[in-house]
Amino acid sequence: MPKIEVFSTKWYQEDTESALAILGSGINGLGEEEASQRLEKYGKNKLPDRTVISLRKIIWSQLFNPLIFILIAAGIASVLIGEAKDAIFILLVILINTAIGAYQEYNAEKSASNLQKLLKIKARTKREGITKEIDAEELVPGDIVFLESGNKVPADLRLLETAGSELDESLLTGESQSVKKHTDAIPKVTEVPDRKNMAYAGATVISGRATGLVVATGLETEVGKIALNVQEGESAKPPLILRMEKFTRNIANIVIVLSVVLAIMLRFQGMDFGSIFFFVVALAVSAIPEGLPVSLTVALAVATRRMAKRNVIVRKLTSVESLGSCTVIASDKTGTLTVNQQTVKKIQLSNGQAFDVTGEGYNGDGEIHSNPGTSIPIGSNDSENLDRIIRVSHLANEAVLKKSENTWDHHGDAMDVALLGMGYKLKGGTTSLLAPFKVLDMIPYESERKFSGAFYQTEKKIFLGVKGAVETILDFCHLSDQEKEKLTSEANQLALNGYRVLGFAEGQVDSFTKKEYYPDNAIQSLEFLGLICFIDPLRGEAKDAVQKCKAAGIEVLMITGDHPATASNIALELGLKEKTRKVVTGKMLAEVGDTKSDAYVDLVSSTSVFARVSPTQKLEIVDALINKGEFVAVTGDGVNDAPALRRANIGVAMGSGTDVAKEVGAMIVVDDNFSSIVAGVEEGRFAYDNVRKVIYLLVSTGAAEVVMFILSILAGLPLPLLAVQLLWLNLVTNGIQDKALAFESGEKETMQKRPRKPSEGIFNRIMSEQLILSGLVIGFIAFGFWLYLQNYTDIEENSARNMVLLLMVCMQNIHIFNCRSEYKSTFKIPIYKNYLLVLFVLAAQGIHILSMHIPFMQDILRIQPISIQEWLLVLGLALPVLLVMELFKLVKTSNRT
Ligand code: ADP
Ligand code: MG
Repeated sequence: MPKIEVFSTKWYQEDTESALAILGSGINGLGEEEASQRLEKYGKNKLPDRTVISLRKIIWSQLFNPLIFILIAAGIASVLIGEAKDAIFILLVILINTAIGAYQEYNAEKSASNLQKLLKIKARTKREGITKEIDAEELVPGDIVFLESGNKVPADLRLLETAGSELDESLLTGESQSVKKHTDAIPKVTEVPDRKNMAYAGATVISGRATGLVVATGLETEVGKIALNVQEGESAKPPLILRMEKFTRNIANIVIVLSVVLAIMLRFQGMDFGSIFFFVVALAVSAIPEGLPVSLTVALAVATRRMAKRNVIVRKLTSVESLGSCTVIASDKTGTLTVNQQTVKKIQLSNGQAFDVTGEGYNGDGEIHSNPGTSIPIGSNDSENLDRIIRVSHLANEAVLKKSENTWDHHGDAMDVALLGMGYKLKGGTTSLLAPFKVLDMIPYESERKFSGAFYQTEKKIFLGVKGAVETILDFCHLSDQEKEKLTSEANQLALNGYRVLGFAEGQVDSFTKKEYYPDNAIQSLEFLGLICFIDPLRGEAKDAVQKCKAAGIEVLMITGDHPATASNIALELGLKEKTRKVVTGKMLAEVGDTKSDAYVDLVSSTSVFARVSPTQKLEIVDALINKGEFVAVTGDGVNDAPALRRANIGVAMGSGTDVAKEVGAMIVVDDNFSSIVAGVEEGRFAYDNVRKVIYLLVSTGAAEVVMFILSILAGLPLPLLAVQLLWLNLVTNGIQDKALAFESGEKETMQKRPRKPSEGIFNRIMSEQLILSGLVIGFIAFGFWLYLQNYTDIEENSARNMVLLLMVCMQNIHIFNCRSEYKSTFKIPIYKNYLLVLFVLAAQGIHILSMHIPFMQDILRIQPISIQEWLLVLGLALPVLLVMELFKLVKTSNRT
């Protein structure tokens, strides 16, 4: 191993050979052995993990809470007045409550950071002469790395080769203009922004291709050095949680004011200061829905986990909430609605010869048949035209398809892989056919340009071969208008039959000089070779998913760069488009021009299929939709999709997409599948429903306690529950119950409703009605019971409280079942949809019954076992809340129909 001056060399000053030499590397890259030694020496190529919020921090944030302060004050007061037992109890309650809360929040955090880990960056590198894909973390100084547009630069690189490479280095330099790169050494001392022969980790490739030599990894990279200084801030809380924290704070303020008023009233009734203090504390605990933020965090975390199971990774928690509001999904075609398993089916040469290609998928299994049936022998005269088109398809190609043992490995663009697959199917293979040609340079495929090309040489002759969208290729060719028209309509016909069609052309060029960029208008007078047709089957699930969207009031749009006829064919098959509606093309959009005009908005609204659309136009379409008031989810995979993803209400990046798209997307669909996006929407709606259910339960039970107390005071009765009992009820039993609703699995009807308006508050009409009604019912029943026990029986005060407390626990446990649905009878929601709920209810009830029998708890809570008759009475009183709310739902649903 050479002595490597890795961290002191000014790499931009070295020329490429000496940089390679210093790092003991070469065009074949490092040896595996050497690489693993270096990995040992320099460590992994990663920055320290964003400190996963530590358990300590979470516990601290749980404790740093006004409510806890009140409780601690109450504990101290208990000790002062000689009620040490109460103090111990309060301490216990704080502990249990903090433990439950911290555990839940820690879990939520952990699963979030686990999901982030799934999003590892890969890098293409060369080791021992073999190109392969590895985790970017495994890169070491001396490795060779290949970059293409959309990649995130994985380590600091000294560039060895560039082809039209432009990088966005704004992360490092703050400069938003992209930077053109070259490979020449820069002798002068230069700062990072001007080191044009370097690609620094964290930058992204906007266009072109490049090869680079890793010169620094991990913390030694420029961005690593910054990262040490600026530790990344805490992840922002989703707006829903912020809103609910605010809501909780507001209630807390109101409660404090109310408490003071009540304290004065009680004082007039002759209560002593100590009791008043405890009572006010207890009331505050009842009325403040302190469990809300944690329960909501749990609900969102549960949703994120469920989404991950359905192949949707949420990068921004915000989108869990907003997914439910989505009114339009603007989807890619290739890979999202189709499987993106491109397979060549037909070859149609310009001399009229046609061939069928058999086989499926990314492999070389199959044959090429001349149209009625015979295999064409290679090298024979009439195969020359076939040879040429295959030559172009393989030379202007950036993919890899290889058979290793029994499997076929592939890398790169789907169309390119499919073309390589076609080559294997040629009798005798392509080796001898390609051998005489040496590729001089490539014009890489970029989706704006819709073609790719290659310059290649054989003996003295130099050729340019191109392949791409038929219109683009025809423009490069030496053809009469008539011929062009004929070929266009031939291609159209094939596209109408659902084929994806590529055109091919080739021509001799007089001279060749290597350039960074070959402008389109410099390509002309090529000879048209023919068409190759691909099939990319529909995803089976996509059709159902489109239907599901329709039922849910969500419009599905297809935005594609593909041919209008191909797009239309697929849209029809998916049931996404009616026959009468026409496809809007990028050209039509461009003709309208002003994207703010009514004509433009009308055009956009008139269709569900956009074809031959450029990434910029995609952004404009999204923009128009959002301005129209739609709530838009947009899918994307390329670098060029980033602006549209950013502009969308919900940016959906494809799992197979570029690093750049994944970075700006709010969520990532791992399997690229349209139906996964719809699953995400569904889970988003479920999550929002669950959030509402939790809020409903917490706020209504809090309100019930307040109602019970106020009525008792007004009736001149003693307080129905002691302070410790209220604490128990709120922080222990209720603290267990409220989490259960976060685990509800969704109701089917949720996906048959129209999307929720993003502006709609949580406390809409039905929610407020239910809150008030159930709060009053529970409050009145509890008060009535207390009144009865006090005035019409001779049961002693504390025994009566024992029963009121039990009644409250029971009613809350039953009320949970009311909260499972806003409209539907709770008897229509199967228990198996949330076993946890039963478990939590049993736990809450069990812990209370247990306490009724444990001397220590009996003592503190002033509770004791009761007789069977008393049990029956309590249970009988607990049921009406279920009946009343069932009736309410019945009335509501019958009103609606
Ligand atoms: P989509 O919206 O379906 O993903 P793309 O933007 O990927 O469409 O492709 C647009 C057009 O560019 C295709 O219809 C095809 O004509 C052309 N094209 C796609 N991939 C390649 C490639 N690898 N080489 C040459 N041309 C391509
Ligand atoms: Mg594409």
